[in-house]
Amino acid sequence: MATEKSSPSPERRRGLTGRVARARWPLVASALVLFGFVAASLVPAAYALAAFVAIVAAALVGPLERTGDAFAPPGAAPAGAGADGRLLEAVIASFPIPVVLLERNGRVVAFNEAARLMAPALARGDAVSLALRVPEVVEALRQAVASGAPQRAEFSERVPVDRWVALHAVPVAPPAAAAETGLMLLVFQDLTPLRRVEEMRVDFVANASHELRTPLASLSGFIDTLQGPARDDAAARDRFLGIMKSQATRMARLIDDLLSLSRVELNEHLHPETPVDLVPVVRQVADSLQMLAREREVEIRIAVPPAPLLVPGDRDELTRVFENLVENALKYGASGKIVEIGFAVEQTPDGREAVVSVCDHGPGIAAEHLPRLTERFYRVDVGHSRAEGGTGLGLALVKHILNRHRGRLAIESVLGQGATFAVRLPLCTGTAAEAARITSQNQ
Ligand code: ADP
Repeated sequence: MATEKSSPSPERRRGLTGRVARARWPLVASALVLFGFVAASLVPAAYALAAFVAIVAAALVGPLERTGDAFAPPGAAPAGAGADGRLLEAVIASFPIPVVLLERNGRVVAFNEAARLMAPALARGDAVSLALRVPEVVEALRQAVASGAPQRAEFSERVPVDRWVALHAVPVAPPAAAAETGLMLLVFQDLTPLRRVEEMRVDFVANASHELRTPLASLSGFIDTLQGPARDDAAARDRFLGIMKSQATRMARLIDDLLSLSRVELNEHLHPETPVDLVPVVRQVADSLQMLAREREVEIRIAVPPAPLLVPGDRDELTRVFENLVENALKYGASGKIVEIGFAVEQTPDGREAVVSVCDHGPGIAAEHLPRLTERFYRVDVGHSRAEGGTGLGLALVKHILNRHRGRLAIESVLGQGATFAVRLPLCTGTAAEAARITSQNQ
């Protein structure tokens, strides 16, 4: 008679193999859920991988004495006190976005810190609707329970701040379990940054089209006039052609600024490394704008420092920064008659900074405009800007170029007393500075 040799069930195996065997379903389930989140772009792949490593570690570290339902609620109910409950808690806690685990009747089983920050009233054992009084959440939950299929809903909140959230209600059931014994996973995705970017994109397209449409409408109006009533009027033709040329120049400038802005934004994460001396850059800019200064009867004064100011940078982009600032000072601050350019070196907690300030004594800018000046197409006075040939993109370009250089722009103004635009850029350190100094001495 053959003796039947019974192999131990996975639950009774000991050691690492036993732990792996007992944790297999939660591990498979969490891997699937994480994979789903990565596929749905809810969680970056690196976060998901880190979360899964944490889950595996939680599953394998320490003895798993208790066996039982891997989906038993941890914490709230006594069943959750076991190792599988702790594993499930580790799964929930490791998500970088708000996650709440519920019983099918809507009672909270577990939630992570991100969920607590989102809904501070969440409490284990309470109905989730007490903490999340959002009709969309309640309805999505009801439908997910009824259909057994994942549901998605979106809702917005006004208090304490405007935000948009997507909710995913995912029924989770252990293999071969009755539907009513499973749990429900609520995952919340903050859509606010996406919405903001989308709003900015829509505004940007509307503004850019409007800016292009205005000169285009004027051009086609003059073409009609020249083809019709003014066909034989030589004086009108010369005058209209002059206006048409200036409108075409405005369109070209706008397109040029838009392209520069998108090029700089594209490379914003690449920080230029070549040492550039700011002093000759600024002097060249001032020289090139002497004609405009004479036209406006403004004197440009530069306080040249005794030593070079070397910053890691892109010479052409830095030239563009100072061109924009000095040109603005000459255009908008001409009534002050003097534009002063100063250089300084300041110590900051992160190292030494070069500070170049462009100061005019014109009408200045009211305080409420200051924080918005670097937004694309933002102008204090649209008519004045257009009359000066402005596109409303100059300071936006300055900001993005400075971001790329790890620098920043500080704007100060007192109405009636002028404005100061200060560019701050980290100075080259040690060997790079020396190398550039030697290079410039040899030139
Ligand atoms: P624009 O092409 O209109 O000059 P900018 O982005 O360079 O665009 O500047 C935005 C707005 O900031 C200008 O339209 C103007 O209203 C204001 N501004 C910029 N520089 C000065 C200044 N030195 N004095 C007063 N207002 C200024």
